Amino acid sequence: MALSGIEIFKLLPKTNCQECGVPTCMAFAMKLAAGQAELDACPYVSDEAREKLEEASAPPIRPVVIGTGDTALKVGGENVIFRHEKTFINKPGIGVLITDAMDDVVVDAKLKTIKELEYERVGLILKGDVVAIKDTSGDAAKMVKLIEKAKGMGLTTLVLMSDSTDVLAEAAKAAQDLKPLIYAATAATVEDLGKLALETKCPLAVRGKDLDEVAELTAKLTDMKLKDIVIDTGARTLNQAYKDHVAVRRAALMDKFRPLGFPTIVFPCEMTDDPIQETVFASTFIPKYGGIIILSEVEGHNLFPLSVQRMNIYTDPQRPMATTEGIYEINNPDENSPVLITSNFSLTYFIVSGEVESSRVPVWLLIKDTEGLSVLTAWAAGKFVADAIAPFVKKSGIGDKIKHKKIVIPGAAATISGDLDEELAEWEVQIGPREAAHLTPFLKNWGTA
Ligand code: SF4
Repeated sequence: MALSGIEIFKLLPKTNCQECGVPTCMAFAMKLAAGQAELDACPYVSDEAREKLEEASAPPIRPVVIGTGDTALKVGGENVIFRHEKTFINKPGIGVLITDAMDDVVVDAKLKTIKELEYERVGLILKGDVVAIKDTSGDAAKMVKLIEKAKGMGLTTLVLMSDSTDVLAEAAKAAQDLKPLIYAATAATVEDLGKLALETKCPLAVRGKDLDEVAELTAKLTDMKLKDIVIDTGARTLNQAYKDHVAVRRAALMDKFRPLGFPTIVFPCEMTDDPIQETVFASTFIPKYGGIIILSEVEGHNLFPLSVQRMNIYTDPQRPMATTEGIYEINNPDENSPVLITSNFSLTYFIVSGEVESSRVPVWLLIKDTEGLSVLTAWAAGKFVADAIAPFVKKSGIGDKIKHKKIVIPGAAATISGDLDEELAEWEVQIGPREAAHLTPFLKNWGTA
């Protein structure tokens, strides 16, 4: 159970040293209770108090890391039921299933695709994250061979799946340095696999026949002092899996029910044989609480829509995506090239820079910091107006890079041209097209008038 602010305060050193950045221990206790501070901010908590306080300050859904290094996948750690309440934090992993029953050619193709297939969108790389390796034969050597193959290709975020504790023991030891997710402890294997997970320091998934059984399994593992647990609710229909995911999230957040306070793994690949339906099923679990989503294949037709959906859902709605303010050189501009200016809303930047690039006209693109707001919104908020733009243009140094003194503003912000003429008296302010799609003809004719 979570502790109240007063209960937390009783466990703090009460020296009011302020090293946590808060004036008093009481204020820090209140922040911890409200989930607005991290326990690590206080360096003086005793080990005994820490154990108790970790319970109070832990997020209702425990964050669990699968893998190591740059490619590690962190799932869980969520604090809200609905994304619009605040933000979702750790995006779900998208993974592909390979088994020891597949031909080498098929396995190689699946691994190659998930390794290489990626998309760039608004400056972010979208790609798959996880390889789930499933034993169907009971032959640990085959499992280890697949692990080595994945490792050899640099695919190191793994889920190791088997019904055999012996196979999982050998597989986990072979991949121990990669911290794979061991899948899955059931009522029959929970003790053995719990010990294996503790021994190898790997996270462990549990699979129950329903949520009651899942809660019993996680409680047993927690009693064994295993913390990094992932839940498979056991459902293999969309309807039941969806209901289970909602129930898990609500139980963890609203009822503070710790046995269900873990991220999930879900298998659309085992819910249908139809690849389109599988993608649609997978898309259900991106907003509705999937932690790791395993697909039968990761190809362009499912990776692109699912990863774009994931990016959209897991983008913090309170922090618009922004590009760094500055001068961007596109198509090798020189002293005679046009100068364009726009806002630093990422989508604006990528659309404008994309259109300029494809026009092949060399351009200096000035990006003004508008706190991530688009041109019109920034104009309405007073962030893309003459007295904000003019000092930026003067300080940016663009004047030293060109012979002319002409600057093109977005057509949507034409209304600022008069004021900007006054603020940038030496410059000629030109009005560009309203739509980025019309930039190519505009740029090709620029300077000919
Ligand atoms: S750092 Fe710890 S001891 Fe110091 S004020 Fe904060 S809570 Fe109190």
